[in-house]
Amino acid sequence: MAIMQMRNMSKNWRWTRQRRSVLEALREMEDHPTAESVYRMLRDRGEAISLATVYRTLRALADDREARALYGAGADRFDGRTGPHYHFVCTTCGRIIDLAIPYMDELDRSKLSADVEVHGHELTFRGRCGACSGSEEGSSDA
Ligand SMILES: [Zn+2]
Ligand SMILES: [Zn+2]
Repeated sequence: MAIMQMRNMSKNWRWTRQRRSVLEALREMEDHPTAESVYRMLRDRGEAISLATVYRTLRALADDREARALYGAGADRFDGRTGPHYHFVCTTCGRIIDLAIPYMDELDRSKLSADVEVHGHELTFRGRCGACSGSEEGSSDA
């Protein structure tokens, strides 16, 4: 019984430690990284962690609202900034940039429908980032 408890404790301890290092790495990376980039950063730091664990941890952090999961084309991306802010997505390279425009609280207070309760909103602008605007690649898709 005692051994089982100790096993559980060490498992929990490992989970807590991994969760903390994943969250720390995510908060340091301001480019809304994929699970793979977070994984590479942790490996570079000598963390013995698998890509599957990093992905699972990021999902759990998003579920607990300690991070935000962003869905777009390609791999899911994660955001260590949980405060309300808007994003710009480059449709050419997939980069996600935080925008400095103020969050519109009044939208959350607007009466959308009688049977919904609004807790927040997200707004994503799409276009081409500065790096991609410089490169001409002939035909652009619509
Ligand atoms: Zn771009
Ligand atoms: Zn962001």
